[in-house]
Amino acid sequence: MNQNKIEIKVEARVLFIDMNSYFARCEQQANYWLRGRPVGVCVYTGKYGCVISLSTEAKERGLKAGMRLNDAIVQCPELIPVESNPARYRQYHTKIINVMREYCNDVVPKSIDEAILNFSNYENVDPMQMAISIKRDILSKVGDWLTCSVGIAPNAFLAKLASVRGKKRDGLMMITPQNIDAVLGELKLGDLPGIGANMSYRLERAGVKTPLEMRYTPPERLRSIFKSIDGVYWHYRLNFIETNIVAHEYKGMQAMRQISAEKRQHINYIDQLFMTLCLTLEKRMVHHKFYCKSVGFTVRYTDDTRWDDAFTISTPVQDAISLMRMIRIRMAKFEEAAKCGPILNTQISQMRVAVTNFVNNGNMLYSLFEDMDKQETALKTMHQIKDKFGSDKLIRAVEMTDGKVIKDVIGFGSVKDLTDLDYKTT
Ligand SMILES: [Mg+2]
Repeated sequence: MNQNKIEIKVEARVLFIDMNSYFARCEQQANYWLRGRPVGVCVYTGKYGCVISLSTEAKERGLKAGMRLNDAIVQCPELIPVESNPARYRQYHTKIINVMREYCNDVVPKSIDEAILNFSNYENVDPMQMAISIKRDILSKVGDWLTCSVGIAPNAFLAKLASVRGKKRDGLMMITPQNIDAVLGELKLGDLPGIGANMSYRLERAGVKTPLEMRYTPPERLRSIFKSIDGVYWHYRLNFIETNIVAHEYKGMQAMRQISAEKRQHINYIDQLFMTLCLTLEKRMVHHKFYCKSVGFTVRYTDDTRWDDAFTISTPVQDAISLMRMIRIRMAKFEEAAKCGPILNTQISQMRVAVTNFVNNGNMLYSLFEDMDKQETALKTMHQIKDKFGSDKLIRAVEMTDGKVIKDVIGFGSVKDLTDLDYKTT
């Protein structure tokens, strides 16, 4: 009996598919010799390169995504570092999505290694059987090393939760009205994708101590705890109602950070900040389903000089890896031509990455960083790295001459980031 006047779909007919150790397994798929060995995929494979994806074998040896290569090698000397290959991951992604489309006409890629299949409008579908067939077809038609976990539930959020929980159960799990309380009963608030440490704390303080209690907390109460409409959507998610994201108008986005005297002493911090800024932009572009065609990068130094770069690309990008790669290539070229020291050095007082010239691409929204198991944990780990930069070379910053100054490209004054997600229920 439904007394809420809201139609609730309680049949588990949404599939969430998450590829396992995606980048590392793509590399093992392409290179037979890498199979069965600990592999670490890095954006660059220099000493302080950051490992962004680990093969199952590397995870078994206790390595964690987000580690620096020098530390990872100490812990696992047989680790094979492999430079990331975005084009390869996209190729496999397209093939995997095509397999899914043979089964379902409503497939939404959520990231480079995740997709939602919505069977809500199908009749006589056995979702469990679908999941088994799709898993088998990806292995036989795309690559025999490309395994995935599938979660099945009445809405996308619970399906994702099921895919995470199902990883250790043959990569297959279903959440239904019959078992949801038992499933939630085993979890802590922080186990819910999207509930971070701060929100856990706030919920606990308000007396909502577990996901199960959260499910039975009235929406108005959650709204006041969250201090936003998002609380109501959390009630929906845990009670089988679907929530969707709607995109907004945007001209440009930037991510900028001041760097304190203490922090700039560590080149690892500078490197990590560069990645964080790119990830921030990626997250926003993914959220709004945008791809950018223009990129800007500025660093300011303690002597008030700066290095600016701005460039336009022919293939729109969205992911942090591609952004980082392109900016790094431009820096390397400049360093070589100008015969100067590294642009990213310990004299930087401010860093800014900007993207603009957006195009929409609803079919291919994915993030190359989603593969990192616990991205936030990884970033936090990197914050703690206190290695000092070995060299104390002082580099004089030079103005870039063959690129327009970034502020000419984007009117930063008008750029606002929207913090509230706009949801609509279906
Ligand atoms: Mg994955």
